[in-house]
Amino acid sequence: MRRVSVFGATGSVGENTFDLLSRRADIQVVALTGGRNIARLAHQARALRAEIAVTAHDDCYDALRDALAGSGIQVAAGTQALIDAADRPADWVMSAIVGAAGLVPGLRALSQGATLALANKESLVTAGPLMLACAARHGGRILPVDSEHSAVFQALVGEDIAAVDRVVITASGGPFRAWTKAQLETATLAQAQVHPSWSMGQRITIDSASMFNKALELIETREFFGLDPAQIETVVHPQSIVHALVGFRDGAMMAHMGMPDMRHAIGYALNWPARADLPVPRLDLAALGQLQFEAPDPDRFPALRLARHVMELRGHAGTAFNAAKEVALDEFIAGRIGFMDMARLVERTLDRLMSDSALSAPVQALETVQAMDQMARRVACDLASRPIV
Ligand code: NAD
Ligand code: MG
Repeated sequence: MRRVSVFGATGSVGENTFDLLSRRADIQVVALTGGRNIARLAHQARALRAEIAVTAHDDCYDALRDALAGSGIQVAAGTQALIDAADRPADWVMSAIVGAAGLVPGLRALSQGATLALANKESLVTAGPLMLACAARHGGRILPVDSEHSAVFQALVGEDIAAVDRVVITASGGPFRAWTKAQLETATLAQAQVHPSWSMGQRITIDSASMFNKALELIETREFFGLDPAQIETVVHPQSIVHALVGFRDGAMMAHMGMPDMRHAIGYALNWPARADLPVPRLDLAALGQLQFEAPDPDRFPALRLARHVMELRGHAGTAFNAAKEVALDEFIAGRIGFMDMARLVERTLDRLMSDSALSAPVQALETVQAMDQMARRVACDLASRPIV
C-alpha cells in the first residue's frame, strides 16, 4: 500500500486530490490537513480512513475532535501539529497549502524521503535552492503540480535539458486581459475573483487577474528547471488548453495540451512515472475551433516585469517578492489598497530591501529565508500604511 498525505486537503487543489484518491483502493491515507473548514476535513478523513486529521488552527481543535468522535481517526491542531504530520512516514505527499506557510511542511516531507507533489509554488519561489537540496540530500523528489510546470516536465521526458532552447508557459490573461491601465486602477475585489477558465482558490484567482501568479510561475520555472531567465517566456492564451511549450535547439516545439482541469497534473504526479486512466474531460480541438495567443503586456501587468528583476537578482529576492506579494494581496482583499497598488507595494518593498546584503546572499538556510520573509512583510506593511500613489 502506498502511504499518502495531503497538506491543504480542503482547498481547491486539495479537493481535486481528494477526488482522485477516493477512486483508489491501493492507497493508505496518512495525514489530511486543512484550515477552518472542519466539516469538510472531517468528511474527507472519514471517507479516506485517514490516520490523522490536522487543522492549522488551535481554536478549531474541539470542533475537529467532535466531528471525528468514534471514528478512530487521530486529531491534532496548530502549526507544530502540521509539521509533526509531515514527519509521519509517507511515500507521496501533496503540498497544496497556499502561501509561504507551505514551505516547512514541504521541507519536512522531503526530509523523510517522500515524493512531494508540489502545487505550492510559493515554496519554490521563496526557497527553491533549499527545496532542491533537501530533496537531493534525503532521496526525496519533487514533482511539479502547477499545470504549466507539469506540462514542461512532461515535455522533457526523455530529453536532455541541455538541448532546451526555451520554455514558454501560457497565461490565461485572467478577467482583465483586455482592460486598459486606467480601468485596471479601478478593478474591484469582486471583479478580480472571477477567473475565465480555471476554478481555483481565492488567492491564486486574484493573483491570476494581476498576473502575479504568472510572475511566481516564471520564477518557479527558473528554480525548478534551472534555466537561464532569458530562456523563460510567457504567452497569453485565453483558452488555457496549451499549458506550456518547450522549444529545442533544433527549432522543434513540444506543446502540452489538455482541458483546464487540475486532476490532469495531480493525477500525472500521483501515477508518475506511469500514466493511468484519469476522470478528466477529453480535448475536442474541432469543437474548440481555434486557439489564440497574444504577447503579454508588462506595462499593464507590472508583476511580469518584477518577476524578470527577481529572476536576475536571485538570492533571497524571491523570498522578499513572495512575502511582499502576500501582504499586498491581503491589503487588496481588505479593501485598503487598489488593484494596481499591489504591484507598486511589491516594487517599493524590493527597492527598500535592495540595500540589504541579505537580499543578494545565496539561499542556504531556512533561518535566513524566514528572516527575509519576516523583514519583507514588515517593510511591506509599513509601506502599505502610507499613501502609495
Ligand atoms: P485554497 O485557498 O483553495 O486552499 C488552500 C488550502 O491550504 C486549504 O486547505 C487551507 O485550509 C490551507 N491553508 C491556507 N492557509 C494555511 C496556513 N497558513 N497554514 C496551513 N494551511 C493553510 O488554495 P488552492 O487554490 O488550492 O491553492 C493551493 C496551492 O496550489 C497554492 O500554492 C496555489 O498557488 C497552487 N496552485 C493552485 C491551483 C488551483 O487550481 N487552485 C493551480 C496551480 C497551483
Ligand atoms: Mg499554474
